[in-house]
Amino acid sequence: MAEVRLQKAMADAGVASRRASEKLILEGRVKVNGVVVKELGTKVKGDDAIEVNGTLIERERNKVYYLFYKPRGVISAVKDDKGRKVVTDYFEGEKNRIYPIGRLDYDTSGILLLTNDGELANLLMHPRYKVDKTYVAKVEGLVQSDDLKRLRKGVKMKDGHYSARAKAKVISSDRAKNHSIVSLTIHEGRNHQVKNMFETIGHPVMKLKRETYDFLTLKGLTSGQYRELSNEEVKTLY
Ligand code: URA
Repeated sequence: MAEVRLQKAMADAGVASRRASEKLILEGRVKVNGVVVKELGTKVKGDDAIEVNGTLIERERNKVYYLFYKPRGVISAVKDDKGRKVVTDYFEGEKNRIYPIGRLDYDTSGILLLTNDGELANLLMHPRYKVDKTYVAKVEGLVQSDDLKRLRKGVKMKDGHYSARAKAKVISSDRAKNHSIVSLTIHEGRNHQVKNMFETIGHPVMKLKRETYDFLTLKGLTSGQYRELSNEEVKTLY
């Protein structure tokens, strides 16, 4: 394995972002082969032992990237205390320790990326890195153009935060059943954000699916299936 800078090796292993790893190095909290290293330029090889705060970090060699169609009723985690199904249960036989990039609620379906590439995961989850995600929501009531205007401007949510501007459009409305299907595109990813936004405008979410993540879609997959990302796709995400 080629030599890489210590902070990159740490970020690749999912310890922290490169910047945060640099801070750990400068604070003297990182050892390479048992010796404290405070130099940011330090290069490490694949078999060098890196300790952070006294704990040996596990270095990933093979990087893998999956696009998963998460079904409803599955936890976006690698394990669940209550024994519920988790997304990695769908990846039996995968030797690498993969984890989801971000989360979808238990009852939300749709596109979710999984990887063992800590650096990409950190990047994509950073609020500064504004990845557009499109959701299709079935909501209570008939969504009107004023509601769409509010979503587009940004609404104050339960936690007091204002959502950023969203793209929103009604796909269909069912007068008899009193619900609407709405497409919403946002780049933020606060907890339950889409549900909170719709609740704020008086149209609680009945069902939610994430259809796109940046340029990626669910095309060709059915619920519970996944595919590997191509090298091109990974490069584009970086
Ligand atoms: N917003 C939500 O409310 N739930 C999700 O699962 C994703 C975005």
